[in-house]
Amino acid sequence: MKKEILNKIQKVVGKSNIILQEDDMHNYLTEWRGVYSGKAAAVIKPKSTNEVSRVLKIAYEYNIPIITQGGNTGLVGGQIPFDKNHLLLSLEKLNKVREVNNIDRSITAEAGIKLSELQNICMKNNLFFPLSLASEGSCTIGGNIATNAGGVGVLYYGNTRELVLGLEVVLPDGKIINNLQALVKDNTGYSIKNLFIGSEGTLGVITAATVKAFPQPKEKYTAFLKINSPNKSIKALRIIQESISTPLTAFELMNNRSIQFVIRHIPKTFAPFSKFKWMVLVEFSSLESSDLEKERIEKTLNGLIDLGLVEDAVLSNSKSQSKNMWKLRESISEAQKKEGGSIKNDISVPIKFINKFIHDATSISKKNIPDSRCVIFGHIGDGNIHFNISQPPKAEKQEFLKKENHLRKKIVELTMSLDGSFSAEHGIGLARKGDLKKYKKDKLILMKGIKESIDKKNIMNPGKIFDY
Ligand SMILES: Cc1cc2nc3c(=O)[nH]c(=O)nc-3n(C[C@H](O)[C@H](O)[C@H](O)COP(=O)(O)OP(=O)(O)OC[C@H]3O[C@@H](n4cnc5c(N)ncnc54)[C@H](O)[C@@H]3O)c2cc1C
Repeated sequence: MKKEILNKIQKVVGKSNIILQEDDMHNYLTEWRGVYSGKAAAVIKPKSTNEVSRVLKIAYEYNIPIITQGGNTGLVGGQIPFDKNHLLLSLEKLNKVREVNNIDRSITAEAGIKLSELQNICMKNNLFFPLSLASEGSCTIGGNIATNAGGVGVLYYGNTRELVLGLEVVLPDGKIINNLQALVKDNTGYSIKNLFIGSEGTLGVITAATVKAFPQPKEKYTAFLKINSPNKSIKALRIIQESISTPLTAFELMNNRSIQFVIRHIPKTFAPFSKFKWMVLVEFSSLESSDLEKERIEKTLNGLIDLGLVEDAVLSNSKSQSKNMWKLRESISEAQKKEGGSIKNDISVPIKFINKFIHDATSISKKNIPDSRCVIFGHIGDGNIHFNISQPPKAEKQEFLKKENHLRKKIVELTMSLDGSFSAEHGIGLARKGDLKKYKKDKLILMKGIKESIDKKNIMNPGKIFDY
């Protein structure tokens, strides 16, 4: 890239906020699992919306592609640049809270703030921000919005899309669009904010957001249920929802293998049951704290045992016990990484088909790789299953990964035959482009039209979602 362009950008962000040496870019160019590793002309770290706008004006003038990055926790390669002439725009320094509003129950923050920090600021202000993912210590609210992240609270609070009230975005030519009002109702034509939610950096840069906050729950009741089939867990879910008025805010299914991996690799973790096939982590969040409510929950869980849907149940007695329960669930990805190669599927199906999906997908894995180990977990309350396949213990990782395309194809075919989605949470990026082309042709044409009208020069994350 011409020095003149980089000099112009350096003048905007300052010398200390531009990385030009390849060695110093490493953390930005490789991602969490080491699946993608890229290249770029520079990493640029603007500190304000105005700086983002001025950088984009320069990029627009010289036709330089911009790859926006938040916390670099994306799992489909969307945040990684792959060309020496592309610029990586890191939003890590655009991380201030602009307003906490207890009357509107909203919080306005810049896109680069970490999700865990946003949650903490809400808590300090007696509010609650319900978006919660295992990557929350690193991912940013801008990245969450750009990927329409899901996570464990979707069952009750909805996806990120349901939590966003307004956005500030910078368009490819540098124009700033400010739509940060905390309005629940705003029927003024097309929803521009919804276009940017889930756009994965292909339309512009999200620089700030106003999101919904909720009253802080006073009490959380966390329980593990021992269950012998996913089908029974769905029946248990519906009974719980029909009999307890305390909001059920999480319902997470995990197979035995996932928990075995966690206990093997993550210090200070223990299984709550000596033998089990499946386990569900259940959480209720309440605005009151009463013995009566806890008794009601206990009674319902015992009722599930009497009905033969649940084999055993343990309810946490303290915050630290509940934290340990969550640790088991949230460490699955990290533990699985230590078991060698894995083939990941982030799918969703209508809840009525979950049992069939798990049964058939397991058969596909065993038929193709007899000793493969299925790590099955997910937000079953909203139909989302992470169906991951770990390599056989003694297999050669690269040999195992040669089967990835074939196995993924089969599992996606199964998912689509059950009216599901091949990407429930993680987006398209690079990894799911082929599936999008194959299964969503009409949608892709419409999306392309929108992309071309907003990003006329195709400088926003080119090659992601769409072919270059
Ligand atoms: C251990 C682990 C657990 C996870 N669990 C979940 C889960 O439960 N649910 C879930 O949905 N995801 C999950 N993820 C995936 C990931 O954390 C989410 O996709 C997250 O929302 C990405 O945020 P980020 O800030 O890291 O974005 P990045 O990875 O930096 O970027 C992701 C995409 O968004 C774009 N982007 C980022 N910031 C902006 C911006 N400000 N403006 C425009 N575009 C932008 C990038 O260009 C890229 O296409 C998990 C990941 C890990 C590693």
